[in-house]
Amino acid sequence: MPHLPILIFFPLATGVALFRHAECDYTSCMRPGVALLFLSCLVALPVYAAPDQSPHELYDALNALRLDPAATYQLVTANRIELRRGDVEIYFEEGKLAFLAPIDGRVTGFVFSGHGHALAFPRDVVEKQQMAHFLGAPVLDQVFLTAYVRFTDDASDDLLHQFQSAKLAPQLDTAFASLSDPLVAQLNVSQSLRILEDRLSQNPNPYFYAALEGVDTGPFDFLFDPQRREQVLFGQRRKSGNSMYYDVWASYSVPGSVPPPIAFHALDYTLDTTVLPDNSLDATAAVHVRAETSGERVLTFQLSRALHAETVTDEQSKPLAYFQNEGMTPQERSVRGNDYLHVVLPQPSQKGQEFTIHFHYRGNVIENAGNEVLFVGARESWYPHLGDQADFASYDLTMRWPRHLKLVATGVKVDEQNSGDFRAGHWRSEKPLAIAGFNLGEYASSSINSESRAIDVYANRQLEQAVSNRLDSEHRDSLPPIDVPFGMPGGRSREAMHPPPPSPADALKQLGKDIDASIRFYEKYGGPFPFRTLSVSQIPGSFGQGWPGLLYISTFSFLSPEVQNRAGLSTTRQEAFTDIVPYHEVAHQWWGNVVGWSNYRDQWIDEAIANYLALLFADSRKPSEHELRVWLERYRKQLQEKVPGSDALAGEIGALPLGNRLNSSKSPFGFEEVIYSKGSWVIHMLREMLRQPGAKDPDAKFVAFLRNISTKYAYRAVSTDEVEAVMTPAMDLEGGRSMEWFFEQWVRGTGIPHYRVEFSTHHTDKGEVVRGKLFQTGVPRSFIASVPLYANNGSGHIVFLGAVVAAGPETSFHFLTQVAPHKLVIDPQMTLLCTTSQTEKTEE
Ligand SMILES: [Zn+2]
Repeated sequence: MPHLPILIFFPLATGVALFRHAECDYTSCMRPGVALLFLSCLVALPVYAAPDQSPHELYDALNALRLDPAATYQLVTANRIELRRGDVEIYFEEGKLAFLAPIDGRVTGFVFSGHGHALAFPRDVVEKQQMAHFLGAPVLDQVFLTAYVRFTDDASDDLLHQFQSAKLAPQLDTAFASLSDPLVAQLNVSQSLRILEDRLSQNPNPYFYAALEGVDTGPFDFLFDPQRREQVLFGQRRKSGNSMYYDVWASYSVPGSVPPPIAFHALDYTLDTTVLPDNSLDATAAVHVRAETSGERVLTFQLSRALHAETVTDEQSKPLAYFQNEGMTPQERSVRGNDYLHVVLPQPSQKGQEFTIHFHYRGNVIENAGNEVLFVGARESWYPHLGDQADFASYDLTMRWPRHLKLVATGVKVDEQNSGDFRAGHWRSEKPLAIAGFNLGEYASSSINSESRAIDVYANRQLEQAVSNRLDSEHRDSLPPIDVPFGMPGGRSREAMHPPPPSPADALKQLGKDIDASIRFYEKYGGPFPFRTLSVSQIPGSFGQGWPGLLYISTFSFLSPEVQNRAGLSTTRQEAFTDIVPYHEVAHQWWGNVVGWSNYRDQWIDEAIANYLALLFADSRKPSEHELRVWLERYRKQLQEKVPGSDALAGEIGALPLGNRLNSSKSPFGFEEVIYSKGSWVIHMLREMLRQPGAKDPDAKFVAFLRNISTKYAYRAVSTDEVEAVMTPAMDLEGGRSMEWFFEQWVRGTGIPHYRVEFSTHHTDKGEVVRGKLFQTGVPRSFIASVPLYANNGSGHIVFLGAVVAAGPETSFHFLTQVAPHKLVIDPQMTLLCTTSQTEKTEE
């Protein structure tokens, strides 16, 4: 399901994205596995870089580094050679260790072959859980046979010191050096940019990286990089099915560390883009940047690998050095490349200095999904973008496109006119935007205008090929069985048997009205709609995305239940596309595009709020269908189901703050399986705790809580800790005490509690005394929850007895009631994410 585009990843030392999440794109760009192929017999000579080298010369020199055969050391166990970074210990116990030749007199790496040992003990509960998820134990304890290690820190001095103490002298070993050459040649390229960045900076952030070949795990990475907010990272590239994943075993910050300052911010973007008749782009961008720190030279922009930078220049049109998938062919770029463009300034930055970088780039990020239905890929990287999801900037967009198409974009349209065979349009942002985007097609459109805003809905007149195929009678028999959706007649009408070809454009008017209704609904929770216009556009595929003032909505959301049914969608999928997806994306207009997030650990907040509000909106429209209940039940069930191809239940993959890390080789759809379901439940439980039954508006506190966040964090990022802080006074649940227990259990924890009660009744003068025990399983012993119990007296009536605070596996309770219950019912109002089993009445 849908979510915001995401600009957050874990830039590995190389500046290469460790992984990124985009629908249907689970590719991750990582170094190749550390397979030591001792094939080459070439002997490399040390490389010495001249001090006045250009960035590209330095980069080439770094790539060309090879082992120095004269700097080989023979280690034995008694030497106890070790390196420590943060809480990580790496021992080189027995074997050969050879340094890379120095560059400008400094050593930046070594290769080790023999027997080593890596140990790490993350303290954070979320990280321990992930270690256990991937490695079977909450710690890393791995024997390794080879290591390729690079650094800009003092690792070589440290080792040389230890060698001296151990009275180890260097030996000449050309065989070892030449055998290691292929590995070194293959892996250098993954580290050269990171090393280059430190070499060019006046305030370098020395780092350490090791590619280790674990005996049990196979090749894995260890990174200690103070440039990252979370310095320590363990993980590995892993294939599952036909897709490659990057499994992050653990990523955490060293206690007491301060995240590095952001070096540059983009203030405004001027983008001039021509969509050529073959759908390729020819574009320029001028990005106005402010330096936030002094002494830095490298800016990293996000730019799709499908776009090739032709020139990068400064304000005086002087070329700037840049790196974009260096030395790769277009084919290699599509497989191994990354979506970054690194620009090197001629001089180190001065804090507060503003300047503009000009880009010219070309390539194809638009595909034809068949029947002239166009698909804009790279929606988050179709222009050079600096910063993350909470870096708000102003945008000025000029677009030219073939005249037969309609084009919609973020911002307010200032102008649109014919220009030869093209249309030309101009858009400007009215509010700061975290991202800009566009969509285009042979659209039909429909508008709803009111005083406060204009909503324009755009859809293709024809269906994309993939959906069209699903409707084709030839293919229909091979589709999965079809459930009859709600409200559908059991048999097919004549018309349904020979239907006219469906067109997404048929839905325009109704969808526009419904989206308008959702905006009115959401204004209660988030404040006035933030933009003057909202363009709602169709996108082939089965996802949605919500850009500021521009929605991308799946074709399926434009189809009637009858057509969705014919296309083989299950009832749940049909309802998701019809009732939830478009409105989830509308909710992102506030929750994501106004209240931002900049750390992947906080993405769940916007997703959970947007999704929960979409459930509330669906519920408000069809009160008799109890949509909120239906979806909460579905999500609860989903969290208890096994992840395909794994023993883990979805609810146990990992905690909400893991965000995109939930997508791994062990759970390719982990993000979707956990964030929407558990996230919606978490917001629901908060709402239930804030609820004031009997009040004029029982939800007033919940509304105030959301309004508070949307005001306080407008146009900046909100974090999990900040939500917790906003929450605590609002709740006054624990008499003003911290809400930490809730966030520990439900946000940072995994698992779902299971409850069962045993009880007995006995008659007294005052009434019936109900005594019993509440049993809690499936969660840690320290888990606390307030569990509402109701009495069923057999007449079908249930009466609230009270809430039992379950603390530990077994909690005793007693209540006084007027009618002896036949049965106790646990939380029939669904205020708590839990599972239950039948209550048992024991004999008195
Ligand atoms: Zn979303």
